[in-house]
Amino acid sequence: MTDVPDNAPEHCPGTKSEDAGKASACAGCPNQSVCASSKPRTPDPDVGRVKERMAGVKHKIVILSGKGGVGKSTFSGQLAYGIAADETKQVGLLDIDICGPSIPRLMGCDGEQVHLSNSGWSPVYVEDNLSVMSVGFLLESPDDAVIWRGPKKNGLIKQFMRDVDWGDLDYLIIDTPPGTSDEHLSIVQYLSSSHVDGAIVITTPQEVSLLDVRKEINFCRKVNLPIMGVVENMSGFICPKCKHQSQIFPPTTGGAVKMAKDMGIPFLGSIPLDPSIGKSCDEGKSFLKEHQDSPAAAAFHSIICEISRQCSGSPSEEEH
Ligand code: ADP
Repeated sequence: MTDVPDNAPEHCPGTKSEDAGKASACAGCPNQSVCASSKPRTPDPDVGRVKERMAGVKHKIVILSGKGGVGKSTFSGQLAYGIAADETKQVGLLDIDICGPSIPRLMGCDGEQVHLSNSGWSPVYVEDNLSVMSVGFLLESPDDAVIWRGPKKNGLIKQFMRDVDWGDLDYLIIDTPPGTSDEHLSIVQYLSSSHVDGAIVITTPQEVSLLDVRKEINFCRKVNLPIMGVVENMSGFICPKCKHQSQIFPPTTGGAVKMAKDMGIPFLGSIPLDPSIGKSCDEGKSFLKEHQDSPAAAAFHSIICEISRQCSGSPSEEEH
């Protein structure tokens, strides 16, 4: 990753420059505020340690959304369960949503403690081949509000990237907070020396969500994070009784399909609204296992297939 992306505005000072976000060329750039608040500028020696730790991780996927509440964590969790359904694959799920960690609840492991050993923090195993790490494990109570400022968040993310003893993994799925914030810059920075397969962006069909997704895509381009594609969640509702399909969140501007086409990124698929998804997640169970024959599970599986297909063609397959 370089610090001047291809699509940068003319005279972009570079994302790592002291002038990032402050130069006159930055005016009007959608990432101006992100660059202006990004830190640190000097190369961090821990990037090398993260690289060593990540050497045992074949594929790294970052899950993003422009807005909260669109189903990003739900998708991250089901993606992890879906890939781990193949017992030959080792999967890790890292939750860096520091202010609202919901992964422990939806993976059925809230209240668990993480242990520190000589080889680092041990993640929590929810299945033999599926481990989870979240800031939620570090809170005394699930209701503790985590109001941490930039440098402290950056430090915690660094620890997560450097110190978690994942062992060898086929996939590391990283669930991030909504929007583009310090957490995203930190993760991109610490992974800058490791191969990242790419980002998956979750949205609902509504323009209000798509608007923010466009910003997210521009952010990825700016920091040279490849985009694997966009997933439209909460896309239509099929009444379980009469089977009539209705649009709860109508795609007034063409939905994610059109947005993906307009922005030149792959569309990975749509997942319908299904109350059983919320129920399984609240109970900390795998929706894919509990409702294998539902249209929503079929939608998840087809998206997971496409993600695995993209990963199997990535350079990291040959490296390992
Ligand atoms: P985010 O991580 O984007 O903030 P969550 O994954 O926490 O969003 O999802 C928000 C709420 O929506 C949760 O209660 C979740 O169970 C529910 N949800 C997500 N996707 C669906 C869906 N396709 N159908 C029904 N409920 C869903």
